[in-house]
Amino acid sequence: MRRLRIAAIGGDGIGPEVIAAGCRVLAATAAADGGFACDIQDFDWGSAMYRTTGQMMPADGLRQLEGFDAIFFGAVGAPDIPDHVTLWELRLAICQGFDQYANVRPTRLLPSVTGPLREELGRQIDWVIVRENSEGEYAGVGGRAHRGLPIEVGMDVAVFTRAGVERICRHACEIAMSRPRKHLTVVTKSNAQRHGMVFWDEVCAGVTAQYPELTVEKVLVDAMTARMVMQPGRVDTVVATNLHADILSDLASALAGSLGIGATGNIDPSRKRPSMFEPIHGSAFDITGKGIANPLGAFWTAAMLLEHLGEAAAGRRLMAAVEAVTGRGAVLTPDLGGTATTAAVTDAVIAALAGIN
Ligand code: ATP
Ligand code: MG
Repeated sequence: MRRLRIAAIGGDGIGPEVIAAGCRVLAATAAADGGFACDIQDFDWGSAMYRTTGQMMPADGLRQLEGFDAIFFGAVGAPDIPDHVTLWELRLAICQGFDQYANVRPTRLLPSVTGPLREELGRQIDWVIVRENSEGEYAGVGGRAHRGLPIEVGMDVAVFTRAGVERICRHACEIAMSRPRKHLTVVTKSNAQRHGMVFWDEVCAGVTAQYPELTVEKVLVDAMTARMVMQPGRVDTVVATNLHADILSDLASALAGSLGIGATGNIDPSRKRPSMFEPIHGSAFDITGKGIANPLGAFWTAAMLLEHLGEAAAGRRLMAAVEAVTGRGAVLTPDLGGTATTAAVTDAVIAALAGIN
């Protein structure tokens, strides 16, 4: 039988709670499918390790992860450790170390979940946002000069390389082609930013021209925020820069109802190295240890991971089980208006898996 080797890094706060629930559901999905098994290895990296060793992960951490098929990641962040340490030394170290240049976030409103939009508008949300995850505005290029003087300056330079823009746009085109509507929105700000953004548009135009079956729209990022709220049905697959997609994907998650539900993948489409999948929420210390963290984001994450590893049918089966549970509306955690525990939602999804084929 095919064995998927998965590295589970729970991390901080509710991360370990939802990843443990996600691992139970992965095992149950594999059992229901019958065609593969999951070999899951836990890594206790994160803020607790940092407090005793001064490192978020061991020095040879990337080497330890190299041989896995995928990484199932919880959350990082702790009140007593600066964000740039927790983020850069673990999560971003993995993203950059494995060149996971595509951040992919599917968004849709699950059955019976209500978002902030009017019901009929909210139901139109069915998006995949593809975020450039390796350069652009977050390339780390820039500097400060003339500190303390009236002429002081601070600069962040957005870096767009032809190879970088081409590869993210190509990945977005492939995703758009795999979806029924075959529609891609290229987000830009080339009316105001005349160099890098005009280059982004040119390179994207060259790539999208190779996909004649795709309908391609070019939309300015400011207009895009309005479109997502006012006409969500006009959006399907979206490709945008690191900064723009960072903002658009938070908007998308908010429109889909709860931070506890969303999932994202940090993907190396070349598949040379493991990709990393994580729920979108953070460590949420206010509810840590209470047993009430919503595990649905981790389950959606597990479904993305399975799809990436070629087990798309199993991923769909898992999402169908999640939707069966939210649709009934009986077993939901408090963030969705229910009273159920993490464990009860996990049990309900595992039970629902049996009824889906
Ligand atoms: P970080 O700094 O890592 O982003 P955070 O403490 O800001 O973490 P987030 O995860 O960003 O927390 O979420 C903000 C709030 O949303 C949390 O404080 C929590 O109340 C709620 N929340 C987030 N995720 C979940 C979840 N899975 N289940 C229930 N509530 C959640
Ligand atoms: Mg936060």
